[in-house]
Amino acid sequence: MRSVDLQDTICALATPSGPGAIGIIRVSGPECFTIVNKLIKNTDLHSKESHTLFFCKLYDGASVLDEVVISVFKNPKSYTGEDTVEISCHGSSYILKRTLDILVEAGARLAKAGEFSLRAFLNGKLALTQAEAVADLIASEDASSHSMAMQQLRGGVQKHIMQLQEQCIRLLGLLELELDFSEEDVEFADRTELQSLIHALQAELKHLLEAYALGNALKSGIPTAIVGRPNAGKSTLLNALLGEQRAIVSDIAGTTRDTIEERLNIQGISFRFIDTAGIRETTDVIEEIGVQKAKEAIQKADIVLYVYDAFTTSFEQLQADLNIYLPIHKPAIVLANKSDLVQTPLPTQIEHLGTPLPIFSISAHQSESISILCDALYTQIVGNGSNIHDRSVFAGSRHSSLLSETLECIEYLERDLHLGLPSDLLSHHLRTALGSLGELTGTDIGHEDVLTYIFGNFCIGK
Ligand code: GDP
Repeated sequence: MRSVDLQDTICALATPSGPGAIGIIRVSGPECFTIVNKLIKNTDLHSKESHTLFFCKLYDGASVLDEVVISVFKNPKSYTGEDTVEISCHGSSYILKRTLDILVEAGARLAKAGEFSLRAFLNGKLALTQAEAVADLIASEDASSHSMAMQQLRGGVQKHIMQLQEQCIRLLGLLELELDFSEEDVEFADRTELQSLIHALQAELKHLLEAYALGNALKSGIPTAIVGRPNAGKSTLLNALLGEQRAIVSDIAGTTRDTIEERLNIQGISFRFIDTAGIRETTDVIEEIGVQKAKEAIQKADIVLYVYDAFTTSFEQLQADLNIYLPIHKPAIVLANKSDLVQTPLPTQIEHLGTPLPIFSISAHQSESISILCDALYTQIVGNGSNIHDRSVFAGSRHSSLLSETLECIEYLERDLHLGLPSDLLSHHLRTALGSLGELTGTDIGHEDVLTYIFGNFCIGK
């Protein structure tokens, strides 16, 4: 457990380090106004209204260090919930560093990483999931991970989880009521109702876990494998997608011996392209390793781009190759490459494992139809008509493992319910589930809450 000292007044640079037009230093804590007063002279921050700005001189001893704009936020109406001041200085590294030094000399202490958000959480300003989202927001690099972090910050996930908690408390309330009246052998919790609540919980937890998986993929980039026979044009395609020469292009079959990975941002979504060695049976040991990697890449990929040489490959050959090289159900796009060499129209669809896969005609060499391919990739992930930015997605392995733990408890509960086990065992599973959910949201559901529920709903006793 880290030690938390809420009595200290903390300060830190709130904007990135290094020179910029302005740099903002945030100061938060009970002595915040007194400390900053020492640096600005002639003004008492205690007398300022919350949420006001004013221009003043910042002093380093007797000399003026900078002319600054000061924002005042009064407890509890600030990000941390404490008295807070934000000093907007000119962005010179010297001024910013010196301002922090004199704040420390005046009685503040440098904040530890995440300490402002930690205080916000402890003061009930941020739920734990939201505090984590702040860290993600600061680190987010593209539009989708930014919107994911924003959504989490706005409490979307928190709301979902609170609803789950509600349902668990309701179940637990019914079960614990039976314990209190065990001698009378009553069943307050209708077992059929319990079963349907369990189903509802399972569905919601699974939905959140799926949203998590998607969120995580968005954050780290959608793994996209580029596969196909040697010389089909995989490396050329990767180059065309990236607009640069990263993969080695050659006429000799099997030149891409290992896998090459590159990132590309398509309409705000990050894709990780994995160019693999040509998949074919081979006696060459090094290439065999590459082939193995290609198969692994297909397994791990969320989308497969299957490239074939449309000039030399017949439709029947393509069908046979797909059956061998894409033996599993995976979202895939088939690319008829080298269309510049083909005069006749190429097929636009192929049936594979009972699913129609789209075929796009491209010329990787001439960078033809690459933008159509990019649109298709985006649509594969976002889905037709739906907007990814509206989905409830979030990322963070702690979230996922706590949700999995909850799901596991609910599954034990279902099993024991079917076995006809007594209410105390059933309520044990639910309590554990509530524990995981409480850890996730930072709200501890104690015995009191269950009692409130029981009394609130059943009016037992007066
Ligand atoms: P890989 O083994 O699948 O990675 O194939 P490469 O990208 O190394 O390409 C093999 C050969 O096909 C190279 O000579 C490329 O220039 C050529 N090639 C790739 N794409 C096209 C295309 O769209 N049209 C034509 N005409 N040649 C292509």
